[in-house]
Amino acid sequence: MTDTEVTIIGGGVHGTHLAIRLLNAGIVDRKRLRICDPDGLLANLRRQCQQCGMTEFRSPLVHHIAIDPFSLRAFARERDRTDELIPTDTGGDRPTVSLFFDHAEWVCEKHNLESLVESTRALSAEVEREGEESDSPEQANVKLINSRPTLSKRRRGIGNPSVRGRFVVSGC
Ligand SMILES: Cc1cc2nc3c(=O)[nH]c(=O)nc-3n(C[C@H](O)[C@H](O)[C@H](O)COP(=O)(O)OP(=O)(O)OC[C@H]3O[C@@H](n4cnc5c(N)ncnc54)[C@H](O)[C@@H]3O)c2cc1C
Repeated sequence: MTDTEVTIIGGGVHGTHLAIRLLNAGIVDRKRLRICDPDGLLANLRRQCQQCGMTEFRSPLVHHIAIDPFSLRAFARERDRTDELIPTDTGGDRPTVSLFFDHAEWVCEKHNLESLVESTRALSAEVEREGEESDSPEQANVKLINSRPTLSKRRRGIGNPSVRGRFVVSGC
């Protein structure tokens, strides 16, 4: 387990899933992990779905923020909500938007992700590279997590502090 502070910038689909992965694998202690997002967890996607009047996702039920691919299906079965899994000709039922977000909320609650959220917008990140440059995607990923940027951030109505630590930019 790392003793480094880790900040995930953006609490969208990727940011929340990444936080769960890091916690589940025991890579980061939750005391050293934060997710910064001015809108809160998954709020951006929820708003976009509402704005375009979407009722069901185009992706099949294995696409969600939990680790177990069949977590959403089990969630629907346990709550007698399988009618919200819409069958397709190509196989792979698709969840309704409300089922998707109810499941996502349940997963976030299970991992107490709300307690990690800072309502903050990242304004800039200055990356100081550690180690050798590499073209390999695997190495590049490690490099990003191992980078040590300075993050200027603005809290709503509270000063303008900056944070040093290791950062993962998830989807913003
Ligand atoms: C209507 C709609 C339907 C879709 N349906 C599907 C589908 O069925 N299947 C599929 O695979 N994909 C679908 N997509 C695409 C999918 O939603 C995106 O690929 C996914 O949301 C990307 O996740 P993300 O975490 O990278 O980004 P987002 O989910 O967009 O999250 C980014 C987060 O970063 C935050 N953020 C932004 N800037 C900053 C900053 N400076 N500091 C801090 N936080 C910041 C935002 O508030 C946001 O919460 C759909 C998208 C839309 C809009």
